[in-house]
Amino acid sequence: MLKTHTRQANWRRANPAKYDAHLVVQRAVKAADLEKQTCKVCGTRAVDAHHDRYDEPLRVRWLCRLHHTRLHHRGEDMFPIRDRDIRT
Ligand SMILES: [Zn+2]
Ligand SMILES: [Zn+2]
Repeated sequence: MLKTHTRQANWRRANPAKYDAHLVVQRAVKAADLEKQTCKVCGTRAVDAHHDRYDEPLRVRWLCRLHHTRLHHRGEDMFPIRDRDIRT
């Protein structure tokens, strides 16, 4: 029986697709299959992987916490994303 009720465990249960996608990214970065990049907007090195589609877990955009949050709050169109085609 599963007895973990931490915040993270709850989030994981509520968002299995997101959790899987993040795991795939973490593994790919570790295995050097995916290169972590700087924030697409400001160039900061501390970045999160943003997923446009969770069914394509390796198609990510690297964004710092600030710009990641902004993208989620205000929508896609606020950034001029030039390189939408991410090579895998
Ligand atoms: Zn940024
Ligand atoms: Zn995101």
